[in-house]
Amino acid sequence: MNGETFLKYIIITGGVMSGLGKGITAASVGRILKNRGYNVTAVKIDPYLNIDAGTMNPAQHGEVFVLKDGGEVDLDLGNYERFLDIELTSPHNITTGKVYRTVIEKERRGDFLGETVQIIPHITDQIKACIRQAAEEEFPDGIKADICLVEVGGTVGDIESMPFLEAIRQMRAEVPEHDYVLIHVTLIPEDTMGDLKTKPTQHSIKALRELGLYADIIVGRSERPIGAHTKRKISAFCDLPASSVISAATAPDIYGVPMELEKEGLADVLTTRLNLEKRVPDTEWYRVVTREYTNRVTVGIVSKYGIEDVYISIKEALKHAGRALSTEVKIAWLDAERYEKCQLKDYDGILIPGGFGRRGIEGKIEAIRFARENKIPFLGLCLGFQLSVIEYARNVLGVPDATSEEMGEGTHVIALLPEQEGVTDLGGTMRLGDYPVEIRNNTLAKKLYGLTQITERHRHRYEVNPRFIRKLEEAGLVFSAINKNRMECLELNSHPFFFATQFHPEFRSRPTRPSPPYLGFVEACRINKRTP
Ligand code: GLN
Repeated sequence: MNGETFLKYIIITGGVMSGLGKGITAASVGRILKNRGYNVTAVKIDPYLNIDAGTMNPAQHGEVFVLKDGGEVDLDLGNYERFLDIELTSPHNITTGKVYRTVIEKERRGDFLGETVQIIPHITDQIKACIRQAAEEEFPDGIKADICLVEVGGTVGDIESMPFLEAIRQMRAEVPEHDYVLIHVTLIPEDTMGDLKTKPTQHSIKALRELGLYADIIVGRSERPIGAHTKRKISAFCDLPASSVISAATAPDIYGVPMELEKEGLADVLTTRLNLEKRVPDTEWYRVVTREYTNRVTVGIVSKYGIEDVYISIKEALKHAGRALSTEVKIAWLDAERYEKCQLKDYDGILIPGGFGRRGIEGKIEAIRFARENKIPFLGLCLGFQLSVIEYARNVLGVPDATSEEMGEGTHVIALLPEQEGVTDLGGTMRLGDYPVEIRNNTLAKKLYGLTQITERHRHRYEVNPRFIRKLEEAGLVFSAINKNRMECLELNSHPFFFATQFHPEFRSRPTRPSPPYLGFVEACRINKRTP
């Protein structure tokens, strides 16, 4: 295949139940191929009717991940970006809403020339076109993907995913045999005797077959590794060689999953099936994600939701920074409405994440004050940045009723972005995605990034009210990075580490390239360590 360009599809479906870690499995499959020098991209199919994840409640659906082009997408795209070290765009998240919207728009324009517009072929054709378009999209460096992962969200058998499964069934006949492989991720539960049970997998393979889909590889998710006996059983019932049954036992760290799949021989099975050159894998990535910890710090995250999935990118960014510094980062989740102030002294650092609405903000503001006054390393993100401004205005500048326009009555030191005036739709209307940020010299921001021009991803509707910038600066708050007249970073001199960003640096953090603010924060936590 030397020098040739090709595009192969790895389809990933899920059986038995959702929440099996299908996304992590798919991303890990991509990683083992990337380690062999293949360019890998990914498409996530979400069969729900929403156009995108932008309006979805994170408590139900998990984090809304933000792409460079401003796409508000499923958190699995974050896993793809982190595992594959790529930047994706909105077309890489296909939803029923997007597909139907396009088809209906075409119908209204008269593109179908009087035909009856139907799920098959019109919707399925559109799905295939969307997959192809995303798969063929060039990376920013002009390189094209050799391999595209296509993860179908949900579980085989869901009504909503039917048109997508039909589309991927049709795809098999439309691409050369060696350019298509289907991996089915399923659950292998244990019974009360501790025996691994294959029946749910057999049923789920049957459900696939009824749709005309055949699994080339089965990845079995289980608590303990699946042994040869169970693999032979699955092989016998599901028409595939035992070597194509891959065990994926729950790993202590998600970044360890590619190594587990590697040990199971998945790379061999895949390269043979896809007719790819067998190459010796690069081990750099493994070296980075398994670096030994010699220190440990505990970070208190004061938040509204107690669900970790809501803050997955923050959690991962802390982990990336920690690995680079050989420091294990333990996270303590503090409920913004309920935590006791005296708890705060037990942490090496305090982090306030992004958020919307007024619930819990007073608790977060108190935590910021505590971090500022007690010189505890502090990192504020988006809403955390805005609340730092409010805290400073209230307690240093002397504006007791300082607040954000988002939160109601008071002095609005945080105000609606002027371009948001009159915006009524919630979906896709915030200041979203990549914006350039200019860093001022002689600041912590400059020290962290080492650059004066950076790009970071955004997702907000409010900003520091321009009317208060001067006053805040005169009172000692340092705005160390800006975008035109918009404040992007703040910091305090005379504090070991007090740093907040209007943007979300966590979205660009990678295991091999930790985000600078996170790196600085974890380093500061290590230096100012209080916990045993
Ligand atoms: N709610 C704030 C705003 O819209 C902060 C948003 C966020 O934290 N992502 O500006």
